Amino acid sequence: MLFSKLLNLFFPSKCPVCQSKSDNYLYNPLCTSCWKGIEKYSGPACGICGLPAISIHTTLCESCMKAMPPFARALYYGIYEGALKEAVHLLKFNGVKRLSKPLGLLLLELPLPEVDGIVPVPMHHNGLKKREFNQTAAIAAHLSKKLRVPLMQDVLKKIKETPPQTDVGGDERLKNLKNAFSASGKISGMDLLLIDDVITTGATVRECARALMKAGAKSVTVAALARSMPRQNT
Ligand SMILES: [Zn+2]
Ligand SMILES: [Zn+2]
Repeated sequence: MLFSKLLNLFFPSKCPVCQSKSDNYLYNPLCTSCWKGIEKYSGPACGICGLPAISIHTTLCESCMKAMPPFARALYYGIYEGALKEAVHLLKFNGVKRLSKPLGLLLLELPLPEVDGIVPVPMHHNGLKKREFNQTAAIAAHLSKKLRVPLMQDVLKKIKETPPQTDVGGDERLKNLKNAFSASGKISGMDLLLIDDVITTGATVRECARALMKAGAKSVTVAALARSMPRQNT
């Protein structure tokens, strides 16, 4: 496209994954070939929470067998690595907002159920002040437009500040997130789609779904861009 070629004159950059020249404004600074290389995960996974790399002989992971999560299913596009990880990082920490569109459109390829509303995982207002935009809400907005399903940004709030997920281990993180979210508003009897960028331990989406169910939602399905591969012992 001439337009994107022109834009690239003003946004000259190198692809952070392969170091070749960025060639498309839409995915810039990622190059087209790295973007197209983002793979949808289709390996073995838990039928509910999506935990990858479990044995192909079981359909549920240990944790879901012990206690059913508050969401119906957690879907995600790919594993949090390579170009997908880079794209999420650029959007989240480097303010490359235009990536919210192609990333949001990846979610359309998931087997999404029919829902009454789309709810992004919220940020605490202090975090929002610092970063100035919620990348998850931006992704959810593109999806909402495409699916013609209302974006319900105000029903879920993060009422407790929690340390970044990378700073704390699994159990600690779960404790920190207890009662961190609160839901209110007209969601009674609704089937909702909860949007997150990356599922790490699953603690965040669990707590969000719990709050939404408590506030009267009929069901919550999670859709995320990526899921990190589980580490041993977490
Ligand atoms: Zn590249
Ligand atoms: Zn599971």
